[in-house]
Amino acid sequence: MTRWALALLTVLACGLCHALTYSNAYASPRNRERAVRAATRYIILHTTEGEAKPSLRKLSKNGEAHYCIDRDGKVYRIVDRSRVAYHCGVSMWMGRRNLDEISLGIEVVGYHDRALTMAQYNALRDLILALQKIYGVSDANVMPHAQVAYGTPNRWHPRSHRGRKRCGMGYAVPAIRSMLGLTERWLSDPDVKARRLVVGDVYLSQVLYAKNALSLLPYKLPSSRKTTAKTATPPTPKNGPRTYVIQKGQTAWDVARDAYNAPTTRYVFPDGKVATGDKITNWEALGVGTRVVLGDADASGSPVQTLAKGMHPRRVAGEAVFAADTWYIRPTGGRVQGSKLTEKTLAAMPPGTKILVGYAMGGPVTSRRLPSQICPTQWDAPDTFYLMPGQPLRASGDVDMRRVPAGTYVFYRN
Ligand SMILES: [Zn+2]
Repeated sequence: MTRWALALLTVLACGLCHALTYSNAYASPRNRERAVRAATRYIILHTTEGEAKPSLRKLSKNGEAHYCIDRDGKVYRIVDRSRVAYHCGVSMWMGRRNLDEISLGIEVVGYHDRALTMAQYNALRDLILALQKIYGVSDANVMPHAQVAYGTPNRWHPRSHRGRKRCGMGYAVPAIRSMLGLTERWLSDPDVKARRLVVGDVYLSQVLYAKNALSLLPYKLPSSRKTTAKTATPPTPKNGPRTYVIQKGQTAWDVARDAYNAPTTRYVFPDGKVATGDKITNWEALGVGTRVVLGDADASGSPVQTLAKGMHPRRVAGEAVFAADTWYIRPTGGRVQGSKLTEKTLAAMPPGTKILVGYAMGGPVTSRRLPSQICPTQWDAPDTFYLMPGQPLRASGDVDMRRVPAGTYVFYRN
């Protein structure tokens, strides 16, 4: 037998003996509450952007994925595959929004800018194939989160844009897709083409669609020969939070994407002072040399933006300032819909006002009308917010659902 044939046989044998190992150790307590999906058109692939333990805990607690693949290739079942998991956040493909309702989500422990282990690529390939057989999802519709996520207007982008995050971007690269057994891929962004969105991250769109995408990745793929060795231990990645330094011409958005204003993102200024993203208001003053330490987990950045002193609301909400699905919550607790404002009342919006773009409001809560009746599919979504009388706006995760007072309003993704 030639050496080539032997190698081929090893690859085939390995391909055949591959069996997925499942664990229910992080099955989500949210399972029972979640609606059964009416359809499954997409499989969305993620990178956790954090280490295994904290990521698994968070995914399970919030029900944010159907599966999570650890570095050794072990597959954790989080949310039942037939039910809705909240993994996409603000998302759109071919004009259809909120892809959580029609997709499966697979998280892989790792980072968008580092290679995964061979054990992960193998397990992911097998899991995708198994799910495609059940749900009939085409190869092209197995996509990275970064490809379908989009951002509502923010201080750097006056229009809704693709490029809110780079989560799992490598899964769109042909060489990696072939490792995952996927042949087709999208050659352009249908929502950008239709002008529903603009490109908010040129680099990302090159990784997603350019022919030379592999050469643009900041990492090399693991060699497949390593995995055939008996003692195939995954390569030790450089663990822990990642630090980036703001270079000339870069903004916080360029570095941290939608996590720029997250409490888990820390900024270390050249003078040694430290502030978390949620405490910074003057983003223009972030100097070259500021270190940005990104926290754990593929957390969606907060969709709530706070109006800083001297800032016009247009800098936050862009062309959506007067939209019916833009909401302004004054520091005193009053809420106003964008469509009810005039140029004058808009400009008079006080600093500290919270702004939500792309939201519907439900309520008020009464003893007979609970949040779960007001918005049955989203009442506990991580990006749903509660405005309780006399209290600041709170994310659903910070609300004791057994004690939601009458008069509370619920803001959920529109
Ligand atoms: Zn993701």
